[in-house]
Amino acid sequence: MAYPQSFIEELKMRSSLETVIGKYVELRRAGSNLVGCCPFHSERTPSFTVFPEKNFYCFGCGAGGDVITFIMRMENLDYPHAVQYLADAAGIDVPREEGFIPQKKKEILSRERNFEMNKIAARHFHSNLMSPEGAEGLQYLLDRGLSPAIIRRFGLGFAKNSFDDLYKKLTQCGFSVEEMKEAFLCGISSRGTPFDMFRNRVMFPIIDTAGNVIAFGGRVMDDSKPKYLNSSDTPVFKKRSNLFALNLAKNSCLGAEGATGDRAKSGEMILCEGYMDVIALHQAGFSGAVATLGTAVTPDQARVISRYAKTLYVSYDSDEAGRRADEKAIKYMNEVGVEVKILKVTGAKDPDEFIKKYGAESFRKLMTGASGQIDYRLSEIKAKYNMEIPEEKLSMVNEACALIAGIYSEMTREVYIMRLSDMTGISRDTIASDIKRRTRKNTYVQKQQVAKSGEETLRHYGDRINPDAIKSVRGAETEEHILGLLLLYPEYMDSLNGALYEDDFITDFNRMVFSCMKKLHSEGGFDISSLNEHFTPEQMGRIHSMYRRRRALTVNDIGILSQLCKTLKQEKEKLSAPRGEDMTLEELAAYIASKSKGKQ
Ligand SMILES: [Zn+2]
Repeated sequence: MAYPQSFIEELKMRSSLETVIGKYVELRRAGSNLVGCCPFHSERTPSFTVFPEKNFYCFGCGAGGDVITFIMRMENLDYPHAVQYLADAAGIDVPREEGFIPQKKKEILSRERNFEMNKIAARHFHSNLMSPEGAEGLQYLLDRGLSPAIIRRFGLGFAKNSFDDLYKKLTQCGFSVEEMKEAFLCGISSRGTPFDMFRNRVMFPIIDTAGNVIAFGGRVMDDSKPKYLNSSDTPVFKKRSNLFALNLAKNSCLGAEGATGDRAKSGEMILCEGYMDVIALHQAGFSGAVATLGTAVTPDQARVISRYAKTLYVSYDSDEAGRRADEKAIKYMNEVGVEVKILKVTGAKDPDEFIKKYGAESFRKLMTGASGQIDYRLSEIKAKYNMEIPEEKLSMVNEACALIAGIYSEMTREVYIMRLSDMTGISRDTIASDIKRRTRKNTYVQKQQVAKSGEETLRHYGDRINPDAIKSVRGAETEEHILGLLLLYPEYMDSLNGALYEDDFITDFNRMVFSCMKKLHSEGGFDISSLNEHFTPEQMGRIHSMYRRRRALTVNDIGILSQLCKTLKQEKEKLSAPRGEDMTLEELAAYIASKSKGKQ
């Protein structure tokens, strides 16, 4: 094992699950446990449960584990870095034995090299920008009104009009073409020649909240296409969960409370479309500005934003695409409990141009006047109809009622019922009873949707963690029960001699879990948390759910284990036998339902 067991125990003892998680999730007591809204999936009814001094588990998405798993997922760290993170917070030293080799050394190394390479690339682009060859790029940025200070602050750069400028630099620094390709910095032509991905563009580094350069956006300086080129997903960058300038915006959101280390979210964020909007806003003093990377906001980004902001001002273009993006923002931010205000710049095409024309003060006024999402949508609905014509008025009321019925809070619904009544002259009671009927229907529709997603799961199976489960659903189930039992009682490993081998497993993932447990057992024993460093947080979620499922059962004796081992062997034999012994559709549906509960 990479770390002495005693150290991990001490670390976990000093990193109270309750306190650590409490910094990210608002927890309230429920019996002897704590519950809150899950930070890993969008929900409003808390299903995320903390079992103090043990582990956490989300009954909604199946995320689960101990304090280390939690930090791994929350801060997007690998095992050694999560350990370091917690040790720093608890003020204890991480033992560095001689010959210390983390288990996932290769993966960590490649991540670190990726960060290192991106950092070198960012510095290279920046020094290009300041060199005579970057004059055109620098002039472009200055013409767009950026100050030298803000150019430095954002680490902006310039990719020369060359096919091998960065390639040469990175080669000198000892990086391989494969590494450059993986990081989306170079491509390889059909003739096998490496080439720089970014050429003749001003460069915007994308930096994560830990300060690592993870990707780049590059913009042309004329009208050539594509206007923007963004890194595609790499091992260290996921477009759908990162935001441009979040590294800077997050600090502005951690206000007075932030200084004490308490992450009470007090902030406001501004979501824009483009890099230039964000930079212009920061330059004008709005340091909560971020941008999605060329897309509408995603559920992942919404969750990230919800960690820092209470209110999100959405400032997309006023075109059709912008309107659709507004709708998405309203939907996803609603799901994570962040208030959305729709900010429409008038008299300019985007926030960048608006600030240049009218100044920061006017933008601040725009923010103050920004309508809440419901007001915004109510006025959109109203604008569509001629209220003088009874039929149209009725359609408007219908549409507005549907909107209000979708509001989660009863109190807020009440406010808008009154407002709609004022707008239309229809009595409050009439509107209220219509909305009541609709809310009942909404719940019904939601239930239908859940059932439908069950069907879809049935069709696609789509078990990302254990894709093999499809080979033998019953076999996979049996394996999970076996593993759950062994996690519950590691000492059962001793009685397995001859009864169960790696080869008996049908699915790769479960086999991997078993062989890891076997190895740890032979090295002096294990408990569920010692698996942490061998599996991803998502996989740990699955492992914890096996453990919990088994623990919930009353009979877990050794007899059950040997029965399960026999069943597994039979299932394995069936696989080589002719088909026709598959599960019935009901059994399959029940299995999928149990899976979809535990799935990420
Ligand atoms: Zn969850």
